[in-house]
Amino acid sequence: MSDNSSGKLAPASILAHGGGGIDPATGAVVPPIHTATTFARDTDYRLTSAAHIYSRDDNDLARQIESLIARLENGTDTRLFSSGMAAIAATIRTVRPGGTILAQSGIYWGTTSWLRKHCAHSGIALIEAEASDTERFRETLRESGPDLVFLEAPSNPWLAVADIAAISEAAHQSGALVAVDATAATPLLMKPLDLGADIVLHSATKAMNGHSDVLAGVATCRDADSDAWRFIREERHDAGAVLAPFEAYLLLRGLRTLSLRMERMCASAQTLAERLAAHPAVETVLYPSLRGHPTHAAAKAQMLGGYGYLMSILVRGGAEEALGVAGRLQLIKRATSLGGVESLVEHRHTIEGDATGVPVNLLRISIGIEDVDDLAADLEAALAPLTSA
Ligand code: PLP
Repeated sequence: MSDNSSGKLAPASILAHGGGGIDPATGAVVPPIHTATTFARDTDYRLTSAAHIYSRDDNDLARQIESLIARLENGTDTRLFSSGMAAIAATIRTVRPGGTILAQSGIYWGTTSWLRKHCAHSGIALIEAEASDTERFRETLRESGPDLVFLEAPSNPWLAVADIAAISEAAHQSGALVAVDATAATPLLMKPLDLGADIVLHSATKAMNGHSDVLAGVATCRDADSDAWRFIREERHDAGAVLAPFEAYLLLRGLRTLSLRMERMCASAQTLAERLAAHPAVETVLYPSLRGHPTHAAAKAQMLGGYGYLMSILVRGGAEEALGVAGRLQLIKRATSLGGVESLVEHRHTIEGDATGVPVNLLRISIGIEDVDDLAADLEAALAPLTSA
């Protein structure tokens, strides 16, 4: 595929064309799916194409998506993975036994849970610290001298946005790398590499694909020549957590509409956050655009043109009331995950138990692309019995 970029295109334009162009051989506006796992050599044992040996690392579609994402992130190199966790795990494994990881607390439970097990197995010291208080976090960083600082912004399910620039500055002074999982922002709403981070990660399973039908992950670096990036590249290739061609195709198709979906999802999330904040059955709304959110200032300074599609609400009452609200929702589906075109609700305490301090009355809501008044009506009907009780 030829590159259709002339000058600096806006992300929406790059995405609409899937980061590619017209295939000069056929005129195709959509790239083909190459399912071959291996590529033939000629009679002199030369490769037919130097870039194609074996599909674990030689897939044109994956390469097209990787260069598209590198462009969106202002990064120098990108690798797709078979899931968000695979991308996170490859990044975490850059820290060798005997090393130290400083991880933000209150982030995606799957990451915390894997980090705890992995560090215990591997003789790595793991420090978990709240990142909303920048000065305290920087102090912990200076005291512990980690090899890697792991942040998630906005965090799931607290929607906390750490001050990536301030933390990256302190990390670099201490010789640590900074990785940021920006899944809930997508590359459209936050550019962690521009803020000083070394690696940006996403679960592309979420809004980047957007249709709840692909598991995928992605890592992008600021410095493609760094030892950490060399390790991550090799880990992806040698340990084999690659994205298969059909999944890559679906991911690219999803990415083409990312900017439209994000526009709708962010606008609806904002409207719903405001309405829910005024609702008598809701104790608190956690959404970074709201002035009352503890990290509103950092979100405002670092997020670009929207605050995302994810929010949490603390329902007045306890587990029973929160589960009752979830159970009465009709349009919004009760399911884990986020970032899809359909809105989803999840009672995180049911999943995490007491391991992370998630309140029993917290419901995490991922806003999709449905009509916003239908979503508001669904939420209001589910909350109504709590106000009449
Ligand atoms: N990061 C965040 C913020 C997530 O919410 C999730 C999954 O929910 C992941 C990473 C893991 O991604 P995956 O399910 O694609 O492995």
